[in-house]
Amino acid sequence: MRDSKSLFEAASRLIPGGVNSPVRAFRGVGGEPFFVARGEGARLWDVDGRSYLDFLGSWGPLILGHAAPSVVAAVTEAAARGTSYGAPTGLEVEMAEAITAAYPSIELVRLVSSGTEAAMSAIRLARGATGRSILLKFDGCYHGHADSLLVKAGSGGATFSIPDSAGVPGPLAQLTVTAPFNDLDAVRSIFRERGREIAAVIVEPVAGNMGVVPPRPGFLEGLREITRAHDAVLIFDEVITGFRVAYGGAQELYGVRPDLTCLGKVIGGGLPVGAYGGSRQLMSHVAPLGAVYQAGTLSGNPLAVAAGLATLARLRDREVYRRLDALGAELERGLRAGAERARVPLTVNRVGSMLTGFFCDAAVTDYASAKRSDTKRYARYFHGMLERGVFLAPSQFEAAFVSLAHTDADIALAARAAAEALATA
Ligand SMILES: *Cc1c(COP(=O)(O)O)cnc(C)c1O
Repeated sequence: MRDSKSLFEAASRLIPGGVNSPVRAFRGVGGEPFFVARGEGARLWDVDGRSYLDFLGSWGPLILGHAAPSVVAAVTEAAARGTSYGAPTGLEVEMAEAITAAYPSIELVRLVSSGTEAAMSAIRLARGATGRSILLKFDGCYHGHADSLLVKAGSGGATFSIPDSAGVPGPLAQLTVTAPFNDLDAVRSIFRERGREIAAVIVEPVAGNMGVVPPRPGFLEGLREITRAHDAVLIFDEVITGFRVAYGGAQELYGVRPDLTCLGKVIGGGLPVGAYGGSRQLMSHVAPLGAVYQAGTLSGNPLAVAAGLATLARLRDREVYRRLDALGAELERGLRAGAERARVPLTVNRVGSMLTGFFCDAAVTDYASAKRSDTKRYARYFHGMLERGVFLAPSQFEAAFVSLAHTDADIALAARAAAEALATA
């Protein structure tokens, strides 16, 4: 069996950076990634025989932990009946029923194969339905890698954006405007200037991709009011938060109804699924009902949907969200105590089972304040945790995810590891 080092050498000769998604390469923390042999519950084993308590959770989907027996059984059963048909199945109807029952804002829903596809399609729909072109997004929010979304703020406040990736045409990036997260004044001023051109506002209702940043009280409500007043579409990207912060997602937790919702991660139970949905009126623009085209060979794939349904079946018991919150709260307490003892400035943001510790003193409320975190210190902390058998995201600007497979003892173990790692970070 090849070890992680030789696998990474081979991978680096054949795959860009040795990985199939950039953050996995550990560039944000230094060092080389380990290669996974298997996962079970809250733990991962690498090909070198080491085990890790996992708080990455495959970047969010694994709310039941690795290889949850009910998910494995559902996938195995589905696979025996065939892996893809390109024709509809009852599983897709069950998934649509589960999603629309949990999200009153969703009357019609379309399944896709990733969060990227969900966000990209929702934006196309918003543009097609409004006949407008401009998209407003927030600095530090991530919605997958579609061209319109790979932009960063240009100079000045309410200016158009510039490409954040080579290969994104400048004129396309200019159709995206960015504002700081949690800044309603910036949003109001952009709408005052260009309200009639704005097709949609897309937001992570709880930001997870600059590290966890909760919405300020009134922020989501304000977005709802402003978009409604200007006939723009409000898109909640709940790819992380959907079925994670509550069964009904952030829209249930904060009581704000968007026009369109993007889902992914948890609804696939660790297999590739995304979804977007909204009112019957808006979704009726999607082909074959309407003129907005969107399709997929593997959309609604039976294995993926079976895994998702098995996951949602466990989550339907609302008690699980109290459990996830309690585990998250205990981890938060452990981190704060460890940081205090080590005299390390640490700001911990948490919503339920998603949490980030930023290495800075001040509150983190948007991307600018998140970036004040000492990322070199995070890198030392990350490696300190890894040496102690705890796996976190290999970047400061990500969430740690607690799953139902984590036990009180696991959280205590992580807190002890953190106290030690923080003391030397
Ligand atoms: C992960 C993520 C996406 C992209 O989903 P993929 O399945 O990786 O394409 C989109 N939006 C948010 C908020 C995400 O966290």
